[in-house]
Amino acid sequence: MRLDVVTIFPEYLEPLNVSLVGKARARGQLDVRVHDLRAWTHDKHHTVDDTPYGGGPGMVMKPEPWGEALDEIVASGGPEAQPPVLVVPTPSGRPFTQELAVELSLAPWLVFTPARYEGIDRRVIEDYGDRFDVREVSIGDYVLAGGEAPVLVMVEAIARLLPGVLGNAESHRDDSFAPGVMADLLEGPVYTKPPEWRGHEIPEVLVSGHHGRIARWRRDQALARTAANRPDLIERADPEAWDKHDRAA
Ligand code: SAM
Repeated sequence: MRLDVVTIFPEYLEPLNVSLVGKARARGQLDVRVHDLRAWTHDKHHTVDDTPYGGGPGMVMKPEPWGEALDEIVASGGPEAQPPVLVVPTPSGRPFTQELAVELSLAPWLVFTPARYEGIDRRVIEDYGDRFDVREVSIGDYVLAGGEAPVLVMVEAIARLLPGVLGNAESHRDDSFAPGVMADLLEGPVYTKPPEWRGHEIPEVLVSGHHGRIARWRRDQALARTAANRPDLIERADPEAWDKHDRAA
């Protein structure tokens, strides 16, 4: 998969060199290219922003550098001769969910446009939206100073879904929000050795060797945690599907 990121703070994307994403890059599973938007400015001060039409506080990112940057990146040609999906981080976008991460992980080429100030002149999104698949995406109901942290969040969620990136391909199967019958449940608690720590013992069922009972216990724990932390998820869940899942376990 190829990922391009256009930003005025390329150094903010340094974490893409470490851990899971860094290793995926080193193995050639991810081709990450970070670009400085100011390279596509033509004035002495490398200006990327201007005052908003209609007045109001803050500055707006100018369309010209974004247009030139994106045109050049798109023209460089991506993998599988496919156009990129343009991912525009914005608090007014569609929520970034595990479902969307899965969908984006299937695209061979993603271009991210993290903004600063009050965001990017709307005409950039309109212009690319006419020709490309453009996704305006929010990572949560709060406002950050820029889109770089949202890009780090999205890239990590997407990268760990790519074949061969996680050591154990099964590891994300039981995650909270993993697609499938348990999609509306958070993952329950997890334990490792030793069996007793500071007087706290692991739940006995986990060493029973009884797979059916363990699966049932995990489901009950997931349900309790979801009810406590995310009651909104319980409301849209399908308990009959869980029962079928339990019987098959
Ligand atoms: N005035 C904008 C609004 O209220 O929607 C907020 C602009 S914010 C200060 C600057 C940039 O940070 C945004 O254009 C976006 O790239 C990024 N950003 C901030 N919060 C975000 C969020 N929750 N999800 C995705 N991107 C976000």
